[in-house]
Amino acid sequence: MGRFAPSPTGPLHLGSLYTALASYLDARSHRGLWLLRIDDLDTPRNAPGAADAILKCLDRFQLHWDGSVYFQSNQLESYALAFERLSQQHIYACRCSRKDLNGMPVYPGSCRKAGFPLDTSSAWRLRVTDRDIGFQDALQGWVSENPARAHGDFIVRRRDGIVAYQFAVVIDDNRQGVNRVVRGLDLLDSTTRQRYLQTLLEYPQPDYMHLPLIVDRHGNKLSKQTLAEPVDDTRPAVTLFLLLQLLRQNPPSSLREAPATEILAWGIEHWQPQTLKKMHSIHPPELPA
Ligand code: GLU
Repeated sequence: MGRFAPSPTGPLHLGSLYTALASYLDARSHRGLWLLRIDDLDTPRNAPGAADAILKCLDRFQLHWDGSVYFQSNQLESYALAFERLSQQHIYACRCSRKDLNGMPVYPGSCRKAGFPLDTSSAWRLRVTDRDIGFQDALQGWVSENPARAHGDFIVRRRDGIVAYQFAVVIDDNRQGVNRVVRGLDLLDSTTRQRYLQTLLEYPQPDYMHLPLIVDRHGNKLSKQTLAEPVDDTRPAVTLFLLLQLLRQNPPSSLREAPATEILAWGIEHWQPQTLKKMHSIHPPELPA
């Protein structure tokens, strides 16, 4: 069972559609379900209308998901239950300000022993024990990291009350029964923290496939921050063909004039992600006018 989990911060761009397509092809080629989750917890970053635009865009590209759309904002109770389960044994309140931490990449554990109450005016952190977490990524090979040394105790609930991405994603993937996560390489760095949490919560662990990132002319990941254009949905088949090429699937040129559904069917039948092995980035050619 696979999933696509966009954050509704804006319309899909070529990079996000590429991730959607890869996870779709991967799930369907295993005859698995493909679920859609809208990661809308970070309310200040949500753009009005973006979730709807994402659904419409996927529809337009014939990327049809199974079941109903899962909105993280409807799951607050599940997160609360998981917090309760971990309780003070694993979670503590942190009152460090951004200034106190002064851009430190690894949290030094300042509030670990402070015993502040787990109230709503503090951030909550997970106590992380010092050990390596390793896993086999389908494209990147063996990945190993000690999250305690790489990040320190990390935030699971922000000071503004918003459940942190690292926490929510673990609860959601488990609730949705996801056993294969296909996403961009920019999230590889989060995976050991997520696996750490899965172990604590005694959840089964999904397999992971981290895709090379589509980058712009300057080598930056396409994103809203780099002002990536919304994907052009006027000619879905042209874009799907291009995406299959970017995914190194080598589609035959006879498919160039085919309708979107046919391109997708070919993609499912011939899905060969191994061609992307150990690649870090992909530079798209200019889209044909
Ligand atoms: N919502 C996240 C994003 O758009 C992706 C979450 C995930 O795939 O784990 O970057």
